[in-house]
Amino acid sequence: MFYSSYIEISKSALHNNIAFLKGLLQPGVRLSSVVKGNAYGHGIEEFGQLAQECGIDHFSVFSADEAYRLLQVASPGTTIMIMGFLDEEQLEWAIANGIEFYVFHIDRLERAVEVARKLQKPARIHLDLETGMNRIGLGGAELKAVVRMLQQNKALVEIAGICTHFAGAESSENHERVTSQLEKYSATVNYLSSSDIAADALHTACSAAVVAYPETHLNMVRVGIMQYGFWSSPEIFQRYMQQNGEQADPLKRLINWKSHIMTIKLVAVGEFIGYGNSYQAKEDMLLATVPVGYAWGYSRSLSNQGEVLIRGHRVPVVGIVNMNVLMVDVTSVPDVALNDEVVLLGHQGEENITVASFAELSTQLNYELLTRLPMNIPRYIID
Ligand SMILES: *Cc1c(COP(=O)(O)O)cnc(C)c1O
Repeated sequence: MFYSSYIEISKSALHNNIAFLKGLLQPGVRLSSVVKGNAYGHGIEEFGQLAQECGIDHFSVFSADEAYRLLQVASPGTTIMIMGFLDEEQLEWAIANGIEFYVFHIDRLERAVEVARKLQKPARIHLDLETGMNRIGLGGAELKAVVRMLQQNKALVEIAGICTHFAGAESSENHERVTSQLEKYSATVNYLSSSDIAADALHTACSAAVVAYPETHLNMVRVGIMQYGFWSSPEIFQRYMQQNGEQADPLKRLINWKSHIMTIKLVAVGEFIGYGNSYQAKEDMLLATVPVGYAWGYSRSLSNQGEVLIRGHRVPVVGIVNMNVLMVDVTSVPDVALNDEVVLLGHQGEENITVASFAELSTQLNYELLTRLPMNIPRYIID
């Protein structure tokens, strides 16, 4: 195996999280697994396969390239839905392969109708409504034009869904904005229905809305971060724990990021470690290098800040994080040896390096840290 570090993905943790999520939903509400951003860093192919083994049959991706990768591991009957980008060529590929996609401007619908006619195969679309996020979405005169085009092309376009996205359901600061978005969504769904436009799936909720706004579940939800064992925000976590009188976090993290000790050496008191003079040995020290640096997504802002686990001990990163290596102080680790396992993220023995602690130190959002884990670190499924 060729790697300097690797990522483990836990199947039992995913089982746990999906069961927990299903418990939050009414029977019959479909769970779409959001796997954009390389499945939040977990690896789209590896995670996609695992999720199917855990009973998932609907996936949401951002773009055609992600849909393409997922399609390579998708079983028959699995739905793939593109929420964002696809160009004209990719749109043809999507329709030919039965991939569903969002429509948020009329040009895409026009093109979909043309391609569907050419391929003699209907396009399966989701009408993405503008309800107040003001990012992408159909509204106003454009929505009316879309309705006319749909009425004229019924055989060529199947409306698989009507959807919208909330502008910050993870914070109660946005409560009014979110509730007004839901009202606007419902009113527009009614208007569409009066124009004889109805869809199989009505979907608005992301993870935060699944927890905080049960009225947004409708008949499908799009869940990303919680499947991977993380909460959308500390507020959402606390709210859930309080309302349900829970003691322990019901979600389990899937990810462990690991490497091994590359060298161990003695450093005498007073010496500086690594580039520059940001760290000076206060005593004679035992120093280990780990073959992971910022080129692998280990942020340089964790210099003299981060921690890793070795032999069940939490040890500090010392000096500057380099492109391909980082240094840790292993003076306190009994019997430390070359090739010892190093846990950068996840658990070892009783200790745990959380994405949250990592993220706070490097001022990244948990979403950002996960999705920045490079694609070329190998991912392995463990039980
Ligand atoms: C990312 C995304 C989601 C999932 O968000 P989480 O907070 O990770 O659950 C849902 N819907 C859309 C449109 C998204 O872009």
